[in-house]
Amino acid sequence: MRLGVMGGTFDPIHHGHLVAASEVQSRFDLDEVVFVPTGQPWQKADRHVSSAEDRYLMTVIATASNPRFTVSRVDIDRPGPTFTIDTLRDIRAERAGDELFFITGADALAEILSWKDAEHLFELAHFIGVTRPGHELSDKGLPGQRVTLQEVPAMAISSTDCRSRVAGGAPVWYLVPDGVVQYINKYRLYAADPASAGSAP
Ligand code: ATP
Ligand code: MG
Repeated sequence: MRLGVMGGTFDPIHHGHLVAASEVQSRFDLDEVVFVPTGQPWQKADRHVSSAEDRYLMTVIATASNPRFTVSRVDIDRPGPTFTIDTLRDIRAERAGDELFFITGADALAEILSWKDAEHLFELAHFIGVTRPGHELSDKGLPGQRVTLQEVPAMAISSTDCRSRVAGGAPVWYLVPDGVVQYINKYRLYAADPASAGSAP
């Protein structure tokens, strides 16, 4: 199997994530794309991150209708902060024999390449860097064998913007799937007043 792996905080998952995954699935002829919500993201220790369960459920809701999309709990069930190397090792252990393609936006790709264990990452998966409005995607210094750049339809959407829209009372309709809009409202995620915020039981 050719297996795409789309890691992210998904707080909340939005159409930028979904379009990127769908485009790469088709271009690289992937049998499946598994979305992997992070556990505690170590890069985001400075802000409140919604519970892993809320992010997992929104990801399930958003991907449910696509027969090639699935969701994995490996990162949220592993204690401690999430590192991409652990994600890939766990997925590989579960899916021995599959060829892995890690899908990442231009911003996240630049970050990953700066890590000291980058060479080990490339032994585990092929990396596909996708375009993202506001971030340059350049092939300077990339190990060409293991990293491919892919243009995807431009979606100027970020989870940060979705959260601040909800907090400010602006709509997120059509930026995130309908079921995710309803989930956010139901559990009062991203409310400006944290006292009114709820969580899935
Ligand atoms: P935040 O603003 O909280 O950082 P985000 O929108 O960047 O959220 P993440 O969960 O951090 O979403 O991103 C997961 C992955 O999806 C990353 O590889 C990121 O680069 C990629 N990605 C996010 N939004 C887009 C987009 N609009 N187009 C292409 N790739 C995207
Ligand atoms: Mg991000």
